[in-house]
Amino acid sequence: MNDGVRAWVGLGSNLEDPLQQLARAVTGLATLPRSTLLDQSPFYRSRPMGPQDQPDFVNGVALLQTSLPPHDLLDHLQRLEQDHGRVRLRHWGPRTLDLDLLLYGDEVITTDRLTVPHPGITERDFVLRPMLDIDHNATLPDGRRCQQLLDDCTDNHLQRLEPVAGAPLASPPPRH
Ligand code: AMP
Repeated sequence: MNDGVRAWVGLGSNLEDPLQQLARAVTGLATLPRSTLLDQSPFYRSRPMGPQDQPDFVNGVALLQTSLPPHDLLDHLQRLEQDHGRVRLRHWGPRTLDLDLLLYGDEVITTDRLTVPHPGITERDFVLRPMLDIDHNATLPDGRRCQQLLDDCTDNHLQRLEPVAGAPLASPPPRH
């Protein structure tokens, strides 16, 4: 196990077999340098935000232990997006793979490239629900509890999906 922080990554796709896109992305996250994949959530189908004339999304989250600095981690996430031949036609439009750095330990980061906590967390049930599946005590750096935020946020009609057959997952470490 490396030192470092717990980093939460949000995954989303609504093009070209989204379930497989997310399963492959999790495999990619498991091979990042200076990082260990601690856990992955179930995947959920959700209605698109913004334009409705596009397929439903599949979303999930992954939890890493990483000693990559946050901007290096973002570089790796963006490389994984490109490796998936990311197509993004318009803002909030369809895409093959979207990876967001949701939380990086308890750090609050505001730079040109990176805003952490990701500003979308608080209003997205398709982020909060899978975070809570992994850690029912998940909390933002300012102390707000994800369970309370989920109770307060818009219902995107989440539908929990069955795992992809043979989907890879690094063995999670024993919970204490
Ligand atoms: P989007 O495709 O909508 O996820 O936006 C990607 C852009 O958001 C990139 O230019 C990133 O540099 C920027 N960005 C800012 N904060 C974050 C974050 N926490 N995670 C991922 N991308 C971010």
